[in-house]
Amino acid sequence: MKNNWRWARRALLGFAFVAPFLALYLSRTNLALALAPIFVSHMLLLYATLVANCQWWGPVVRSFETKDAEVWLTIDDGPSPSHTPKILDLLERFNARATFFLVGVNAESYPHLVTEILTRGHEIANHTYTHPSGSFWCAGPRRIAAEIDLCAELLRSAPDRPERFFRAPAGLKNLFVHPELSRRGLALIGWTMRGLDTVRRDPELVAEKILHSVRAGAIILLHEGHRVEKDPEFNPRCLELTLAGLAERGYACVIPQPEQLSARAAGK
Ligand SMILES: [Zn+2]
Repeated sequence: MKNNWRWARRALLGFAFVAPFLALYLSRTNLALALAPIFVSHMLLLYATLVANCQWWGPVVRSFETKDAEVWLTIDDGPSPSHTPKILDLLERFNARATFFLVGVNAESYPHLVTEILTRGHEIANHTYTHPSGSFWCAGPRRIAAEIDLCAELLRSAPDRPERFFRAPAGLKNLFVHPELSRRGLALIGWTMRGLDTVRRDPELVAEKILHSVRAGAIILLHEGHRVEKDPEFNPRCLELTLAGLAERGYACVIPQPEQLSARAAGK
């Protein structure tokens, strides 16, 4: 059913408003019981915020509509001088297209890589200006707006490129994020599967985790620019193994059209 998230959002905020009054009422009879509504309300607010693909605050695109064997490859945290050129070569070798969720400060440092991504037929999208993964989840509306707008400003290098997508750092989003995104016409993109390539050490395991549950319409999340010093080949290797596995299974990597996303962003 469409717009489920609107009810979830209202219910969450409504309960958070009512909980202190309920606690006050209950405290007249039982102090321990009085804390229950406050506790439950906080847990629900945290769940909606910290569970990446949870849609209680608003729609999160977690897959796309397709009848064909195709997936949407998304690569976060670039551009990276150590990885982006290798990644572009790999994508070309496997005839794959991808969306790069770029961090504004990186795009500012390496504008030629942003141009290169676009020139080679891929898409760029907004992944905040500074990638504040530890604090974005508790940021206020003004800071969230600044993170989105400063990144968007840097990505506007291509004149006719429509701005469509945003991904929150680590996928964490609070109640202020969706209103700021809808004001700017941006969709919040989650994922169907990720290889946990920021945590795992073995590229085979990263690719295996993705390929194990891959299906048509899946959004795949990988990263670039990580472990550049310790293991510079790690991120490209994860991508290479994933691309090889996808090709073996007959999946094409495409960038979905807006109509393929709309139904999935409507609260399903
Ligand atoms: Zn990120």
